[in-house]
Amino acid sequence: MGQGGIVHSYTAAPCPLPCDGPAPRVVRHTGQGHGEGLPVDCEQCGFLVAQILVELGVGGTGSTTSSPQPLQYRDVFILTWDDSLHDAKSDASGQVTRPASGVLRGVREAGIPVTLLESGDEDGVRDVATMAGPDHVIATRCFDVQGLERKVVVWVGEKGPDDGWGRLLAASRCTSQLVWVTPPPREVRHIQR
Ligand SMILES: [Zn+2]
Repeated sequence: MGQGGIVHSYTAAPCPLPCDGPAPRVVRHTGQGHGEGLPVDCEQCGFLVAQILVELGVGGTGSTTSSPQPLQYRDVFILTWDDSLHDAKSDASGQVTRPASGVLRGVREAGIPVTLLESGDEDGVRDVATMAGPDHVIATRCFDVQGLERKVVVWVGEKGPDDGWGRLLAASRCTSQLVWVTPPPREVRHIQR
């Protein structure tokens, strides 16, 4: 995020200062099983994100004496830069005419409930802000939840390592564990051209 002057350096220390949270987890959209497009369309990336969420204990029941309480699904945001996430569309007969975004399919197939918050859904935003909706992971555009925070934030990269504004917004929404989903270097060069 220091690239392009988005975030100015704030320390003269020769190495990064220690932080009080765990290191970001990284899912690389490359290799066997991954789709050819961007991470947002990749079921395998969604599956790997789901694995990390399970490792973090998201949605677990925990023990009655455990402290702190286990993470709920609603403690997680999946964020993108634009409104490239979409849900499944069906025709009148219930036949699916367009499947949901790959990353959503991957997370859901691992048994994790995800609600997609569409742009302009003011009631949905209110529910997300007040934690009123069902205990689901919320997937949405980063701009639609500015000002809200979650313990776990998954940033689905769309433009390579220079998608700094989006990553900055995602990082600023996270109080504990960040997960980066990053496009492969080849995609990055293609997109930057
Ligand atoms: Zn992938």
